[in-house]
Amino acid sequence: MLYISTRGNSEPQTSAQAISIGMVPAGGLFVPQEIPNVNWQEFRGLDYSQLALSVLRLFCDDLPDSTLQQAVNVYKDGRFDNPNPAPVINIGGCGLLELWHGPTAAFKDMALQVLPYLLASSTKIVGLDAEVLILTATSGDTGKAALEGFKDAPGTKIVVFYPDGGVSAVQERQMITTGGRNTYVLAVSGNFDECQTAVKKVFSSPDLRQKLLRKKKVFSSANSINWGRLLPQIVYYFWAYLQTVEQGSIEPGSPINIVVPTGNFGNILAAFYAQKMGLPINKLICASNRNNVLFDFFQSGIYNSNRPFYLTTSPSMDILISSNFERFLFEMTSRDAAKINKWFQALGTEGRYEVDSSTLDTCRQNMYAGWASEEGVSQTIAEFYQEHGYVLDPHTAVGVKVYQDYKQQSKDNTYTVLASTASPFKFAQSVLRAIRPEDYAAEDAWKALDRLSELTGWQIPPGLRNLQDKQAQPAQKCRPHEIEKFILEEFC
Ligand SMILES: *Cc1c(COP(=O)(O)O)cnc(C)c1O
Repeated sequence: MLYISTRGNSEPQTSAQAISIGMVPAGGLFVPQEIPNVNWQEFRGLDYSQLALSVLRLFCDDLPDSTLQQAVNVYKDGRFDNPNPAPVINIGGCGLLELWHGPTAAFKDMALQVLPYLLASSTKIVGLDAEVLILTATSGDTGKAALEGFKDAPGTKIVVFYPDGGVSAVQERQMITTGGRNTYVLAVSGNFDECQTAVKKVFSSPDLRQKLLRKKKVFSSANSINWGRLLPQIVYYFWAYLQTVEQGSIEPGSPINIVVPTGNFGNILAAFYAQKMGLPINKLICASNRNNVLFDFFQSGIYNSNRPFYLTTSPSMDILISSNFERFLFEMTSRDAAKINKWFQALGTEGRYEVDSSTLDTCRQNMYAGWASEEGVSQTIAEFYQEHGYVLDPHTAVGVKVYQDYKQQSKDNTYTVLASTASPFKFAQSVLRAIRPEDYAAEDAWKALDRLSELTGWQIPPGLRNLQDKQAQPAQKCRPHEIEKFILEEFC
């Protein structure tokens, strides 16, 4: 399987090459040259690791099977706190796909536990005798998941940049208590987009690449711009479908809807690829929070990131530049690299682009987009808890709210699976405020965790216990334009 650039500015690369460099050095993202077709029925009876192996093999035929075997073992070697790493919980007539049973309690673990194996093997195959420097911009959850995944991994250093003041107390504490000899955490002034843009700029600086290479170091990425990060996410949509059939919620072969709370557009893109591969999916529903740039795009065909940036209770979705949307548009234009180039150049210089009406039509046929207000999210958490005794985290609640609105308006009764992207404990303060507005414990991040557990009878996930007592290494502060300087000083 070869990978091509969304902007037509790279020779086709093997999966090892695409994964080891993370993104196209000249700008652009790697996508599979062809999307393989599979029959989901062939996956029946497999356990999660076996299913993951089957899917990974389709896309990484140049990586040794032993690597892939090792990689998928993570789902059954005790790192996940549930024998089924991604259970579908059937509630209120739909399925919640819980993706947060990994070590950091958000869905990012599903891929970031696997990526280190793929990356180590890839760099070896391409003959890079160099240390890999992984740069990661995070809106909160990727950072910790990447730190956990790559902590003390040989031949690797991992640097995480998060927006100062833009992540939850628990998220920040998780990141700065990682330890490990090869981890770096920096708090960048500004919002996530400024942070991500600055990191991407560093990535595509030929000068910096040269300097690093002289020190036998190369860049890679743990963000969903890296194909190796997206690929393991395709697996759980097949898994969800298989469980839905198993549970008798649908007839084998009937389509389902999938709802994904969306930020950088990686998770929903994985669902889109699953659909392209032949998984019976009826509607893909893209749910945004108040930072609803994607919703507006689906209304107007204009992607405009020049707008206020809101800090919300779902910080991992506080994003105005959804990187992976580029891959989606590439498919929506029947792979017209010239168009993608034009639009994404414009996004870089003017912060906006407008697509033609036939592209917009195709987008709308492939996806439904909605958004939820902060009030809607909080109300949804409260109502869902009252009705079902089930606690939603604010990100998942965005998805639930958008789905409820969609269902009411469309009268579409297709069985629907909603990606549940984080444990509610990761955002305990916001969740507690929603279900018990008068509770003083919500004022304190750590008390909120205990109180939420007390109230609901749910256990605090292992990775979030006793965070306040763990030894912390406060994050170094920097401004976006200082990222390059930091890298030069620290690594060159
Ligand atoms: C990262 C994240 C999202 C957004 O996922 P994307 O792949 O960036 O669209 C949603 N919810 C949670 C909890 C996350 O950590």
